[in-house]
Amino acid sequence: MAGFRKVLIANRGEIALRIHRACREMGISTVVAHSTADSDAMAVRLADESVCIGPPPPRDSYLNIPAILSAAAITGVDAIHPGIGFLAENARFAEMVEEHGFAFIGPSPEHIRIMGDKVAARTAMLAVGLPCVPGSDGTVDTVEQAADLAAAIGYPVLVKAAAGGGGKGMKVADDADHLASAFSLARSEASAAFGDNTVYLEKYLEAPRHIEVQILADTHGTVVHFGERDCSLQRRHQKVIEEAPSPALTEAQRRDLGALAVDSVRRLGYRGVGTLEFLYQDGAFYFIEMNTRLQVEHPVTEMLTGIDLVREQVRVATGEPLGYGQDAIGFYGHAIECRINAEDPRTFTPSPGRIDSYHAPGGLGVRVDSALYDGCRIPPFYDSLIAKVITHGTSRTDCLLRLRRALEELVIEGVSTTLPLHVDVIREPEFAAGDYTIHWLESWLERQD
Ligand code: ADP
Repeated sequence: MAGFRKVLIANRGEIALRIHRACREMGISTVVAHSTADSDAMAVRLADESVCIGPPPPRDSYLNIPAILSAAAITGVDAIHPGIGFLAENARFAEMVEEHGFAFIGPSPEHIRIMGDKVAARTAMLAVGLPCVPGSDGTVDTVEQAADLAAAIGYPVLVKAAAGGGGKGMKVADDADHLASAFSLARSEASAAFGDNTVYLEKYLEAPRHIEVQILADTHGTVVHFGERDCSLQRRHQKVIEEAPSPALTEAQRRDLGALAVDSVRRLGYRGVGTLEFLYQDGAFYFIEMNTRLQVEHPVTEMLTGIDLVREQVRVATGEPLGYGQDAIGFYGHAIECRINAEDPRTFTPSPGRIDSYHAPGGLGVRVDSALYDGCRIPPFYDSLIAKVITHGTSRTDCLLRLRRALEELVIEGVSTTLPLHVDVIREPEFAAGDYTIHWLESWLERQD
């Protein structure tokens, strides 16, 4: 297939802008599909064309498949980029995009479907040789079944939603007395969040790190990895700060993990960008899930490799061969990303509103992915991520010094943001030493009260 001429971006905020930028540099025209709440968004302003697809609630606009397909047809695009969130991991959407004659910038609907069901993903990954967290072979349908399994695996255990995402539908049971309540809570949370109460069981690892591998596969059998990202700084199982390389891995572990990820993705016959997420504890890796899309934290990898992952994603979606192999991917220095949300930095209550003043940091090794500008509005209907500050340095120490300096320069006035939290966290000696697990941030937050 020849390259795309025109792409519809079915998303909003900083990621819509990020995709627009990549397309622009590739000479591809952009159409941004947006809700009425985002009519003045930066991506809408910069795009070649824009189409309003509905009112603010996501189900009426960013999740409104007929409206998005109509916008694509009216504007005559070749392909649709789903971005992150919303319809990015909706297999039916990917299928419909293709049925309507557009290319879907993402993996095949089958792979989205398999990986969107964590039980199916575990089965598929075990079959291609990836180690998973010890747990149930399939779904767990009754509390009796859960109790038998938990006794065999050993407490603590984690009851997880098969349709899970965003850390929802996950409950820990420390012992047999707490299993029934964890089981029913996880089921009801899963049902409310995903309309599907299917759950499964995993051993609850008590002090792991979250380490993920970025992969890319073309449609000609070439699969490469772009190294790992350490995303252990989390609150409520949601990432807050990410870095690469992981301070916890040796070169040999890094090489082995990359090779393992590439091998399993090749066996799956996957295409496009993807991320294999692992928990790492006591020298062992355990696969937990695969995200079949771009990740919020992809800039960390781009800073380290100098490769534009969105450009590569678009290129492989046209059917073009990657044109290089693993040897061509170099890793240089260190990169860290802070996710700045429009939220109260202590209570994490969302803080929508008007941005009275915005000033982004700059200078060598500083990148800010944000759609903010003076006078723009943060609508109350969507995710509260408003800016990602990423710094790069020749060493982790240089990267951190630069991050501290960059955060000092960042000005966002008019709404509360989590900027003060980041300023404080990156000064902590344990963070500076790279010595943290997935629980570190929550226990640090408790100590602040
Ligand atoms: P989601 O799709 O909701 O993000 P994940 O399976 O990716 O769920 O897990 C999110 C986070 O939850 C992980 O990064 C980790 O912090 C925690 N987690 C998941 N599974 C386990 C487990 N078996 N033991 C301990 N923590 C876990």
